[in-house]
This record gives sequence, structure tokens and C-alpha cells, in this order.
Amino acid sequence: MLPDSCGRCSIRHTVDLSSVYILGVRVDCVTFQQTLELIETFIAQGTPHQIVTVNPEFVMMAQRNLTFRKVINQSALALPDGIGVWWASRYLGCPVPERVPGVDLVVRLAQLSACKGYRMYFLGAMPGVAARAAAVLQRRFPGAVVAGSYAGSPRIEENAAIVRRIRAQNPDILFVAFGAPAQDLWIARNLAALRVPVCVGVGGSFDYIAGVRPLAPQWMRKIGLEWFYRLITQPWRWRRMLALPLFVWYVLWSKSNWKICHPADPPSHL
Ligand code: UDP
Repeated sequence: MLPDSCGRCSIRHTVDLSSVYILGVRVDCVTFQQTLELIETFIAQGTPHQIVTVNPEFVMMAQRNLTFRKVINQSALALPDGIGVWWASRYLGCPVPERVPGVDLVVRLAQLSACKGYRMYFLGAMPGVAARAAAVLQRRFPGAVVAGSYAGSPRIEENAAIVRRIRAQNPDILFVAFGAPAQDLWIARNLAALRVPVCVGVGGSFDYIAGVRPLAPQWMRKIGLEWFYRLITQPWRWRRMLALPLFVWYVLWSKSNWKICHPADPPSHL
């Protein structure tokens, strides 16, 4: 079964999940609550699952980086992170119900860990930041289980040692903060060897949770102006953020060009 640009992929999960393909990149139409339920199912299953948090920068990177696109499209869950993805899904006629931002997911999973005892491992960011983020979450949700934290690096030479280190702690959830696409390619490369039920690429989430970088105020996040806040507080990102207007332009154009909206790499298990 090949999904079209608004395909229904009910085989993938117990939940009847539909997906939208934005410029050939899959985004699943899930709510935050469904995401948490699916994650609990993945943990119960015990087999490894990769989760990606798709934003417009991902979509633009995936136009050139076909390996990255394949990783997103074959992931167990491609979450709608970023207001741009939310808007594009609406414009293309397959609206995602809400945004599921990576940083909020980390926080909610820490809360779930406190209730259910799920073991979380924090990999990535600058030295000390992952541990600090884990400590902040443990303070906020007493009982949350931190299996370990390590800055590490996505470099291939460190690969085997990092996998061994994580395996030794037997986590249920692995957060990887190497930035995209490195973190998602790293997870895809090591998914089988890690044998962690839930592996999520979380970008700069540890920096925000640890307070190393400021997160946009709630009202700005609510109306989708997070990108503007980032531009003001991290002006050196301006070049990277050029991807946003380009993304809007491509999406507007893609509607009249069906081919670019068609899934290039549907999930391999469909
Ligand atoms: N990072 C890392 N190793 C690297 C490159 C980046 O640990 O080789 C970390 C970086 O310190 C940051 C995170 O990856 O904590 C990603 O940051 P970025 O701003 O790129 O992510 P975004 O929030 O845009 O997804």
C-alpha cells in the first residue's frame, strides 16, 4: 500500500494514523495524547522505534539530503514540530491536529517516567548540559528515572563506545540532541544495536530545559512566533532560518505541482 500525499497508514500502529507528505517528507497527523500513547505501546513492545520531530528546516534539508528524507519517511513516528509544518499540512489539505514540539515531548515523557518508571537516557549537547537538563526534569517531576546522560558526539569513531555506554544502562527512552540531521542519522545507524524501544532526536531541547538557551515565552509559542524569538535571541542563526521563507515558497508552489508533494520514500514496511 502506497499512501498518497494524504495517506492512511493504519498498518504501522494500532492507532489508525494518517500522514501528510510535505515536499515528499512524511509528517504524521497525531495529537500529543496519541503520541504519548504510541510511545507507551512502543515501550511495551520492546522493539526499537525511531521518532523524528519534523520542522520546516528538516523538510528543506531533506530536499537535498535523500538519506535524511529516507530516515524521516521510514521512522516509526514523524511528529509535527514547528508552526510551518502545521500551516503547510493545512494548506495541502491534510491538517495535522496540533503541534508536537520536541522540547515539550521531552518534558511530558519525564512526567510519564515519574509515574511509570520509564528509564530515560540523555545523549548530546555541550558537556554537562544533558546532565543539567536531566536534573532539572528530576526536580520538576520527582521520581523521574534518569538512566544516564552523556555529551558524546555524532562522530563515527565514537559510535561503538556510545552504543555500549547506553546499552549498559538499558533505557526505555533515548533522547539524542546532536542537531538535525546528525542526530536522526545517528539514531537510524544505531537503532538495531541500541535496542532501546524509543529513540527520539530532540535538537536543542536540552539547552532550553537546562536554561542554556532561552525558550520563547508561552504566548509567542502559542501564536507560532517561536522562529521570530529565535531570530532575535540567536541572530547568528539567520542563514539557517532562510530555510523558512524558502519552505513557504516551495509549499505554495508544490500545490500546483503534484509531483513534489507525492511521497518519495513511503515507509518501507507498508
Ligand atoms: N550538538 C552536539 N554535537 C554536535 C552538534 C550539535 O551535541 O556535534 C548539539 C548542540 O549543542 C545543541 C543541539 O545539538 O544542543 C542542537 O542544537 P540546534 O540549535 O542545531 O537544534 P535545533 O533546536 O535547531 O533543532
